[in-house]
This record gives sequence, C-alpha cells and structure tokens, in this order.
Amino acid sequence: MRETQNIAVDDDARLIPMWSIVVAIAAFVGVEYYFWMVLPEHRHHPGAPLGLRIYFNLSWGLLAALYSLMIGYVSKDAPRRSMSARFWMMLCFVMPGGIGAVLYFLLRQPLVSRCMACGTFVQSEFHFCPQCKYQLTASCGTCFRTVRVTDQFCTCCGHELGTADVPARLQVMGN
Ligand SMILES: [Zn+2]
Ligand SMILES: [Zn+2]
Repeated sequence: MRETQNIAVDDDARLIPMWSIVVAIAAFVGVEYYFWMVLPEHRHHPGAPLGLRIYFNLSWGLLAALYSLMIGYVSKDAPRRSMSARFWMMLCFVMPGGIGAVLYFLLRQPLVSRCMACGTFVQSEFHFCPQCKYQLTASCGTCFRTVRVTDQFCTCCGHELGTADVPARLQVMGN
C-alpha cells in the first residue's frame, strides 16, 4: 500500500513510539494479572507445576508486549517507506501469530531518501522534489523518463540529451 501524498515525516522521532511502550507494559501487566489472579479462581483442580506456569505466563505476557511494540514500530517505519501506516498497523493487529509483521518485513518498500536541497523525503522514482523543485534524477527533456547522467542519448526516445531543454541531464551535472 502506498501513500504518495503524505510522505513528510519527522525522522528524529524514535522508531518505537512512547505510546506503544506504554501499551506494551500495560499488556504485559494485564496478561500477568489475568493468568495469576483471574484464571486460577476459575480452576477447581491444581494446574501445571509452578515452574511451568511461570514460564507460560511470562511467555504470553512478553508476546502481548511484543505485539504492541511491533505495531508501534510499524507506525513509525511505514511512513519512512511511503507505505500506509494505518493499513499495516491494522494488518499486524488482525493477523494471528505475528503473520502481519512477517508480511510487513517481506513486503516493505525501501526507505525513501531526502532532497539534497531542502530535506523533504522523496521516493526513488521522483525526478523533482515536490517541495522545492530541486532536480533529483537525470531525465530526458523530451519523454521525461529517467536517464543516466552519462548518457548521450535517451534510451527510450533517442533524444540527444546534450541539447535537452529543462528538465535535462545537464542540470544534474551542474552545467
Ligand atoms: Zn527539496
Ligand atoms: Zn526520451
């Protein structure tokens, strides 16, 4: 899922937001409370040995906490890749057993880079910065497809790049 309109994000912010840490701690405490306080009252016979119970109860608590941290991470990481944070947070939340998180790591886009002139986040396929019009990629002046800076002719339309009008490859070379 891509969200091309809104890709300006604050990169100073931590990748795991505060709210997800708070939710993670709350989830851990909640799960522990449930397993130690609520569940035993509904049981009439003694359950598993204590060591095993500590192991399982802590595991479930940590899993719940991890789940929250994961969603928090996705909420910060997805915008850096111009992916929809809301969509992926939903998916991570809904899919059982962390499948959403696995899918996220398999399908996530590369990081978007920054405009050298103004620092706006830009995707790799952008030719110009959407904020300051700085030319990010060399492109053909006729068909506007991406070309290499060293190309003499456009590989798509055969246009001679040395004579190109703006946006031309020579702009990138600084001539
Ligand atoms: Zn810019
Ligand atoms: Zn061309």
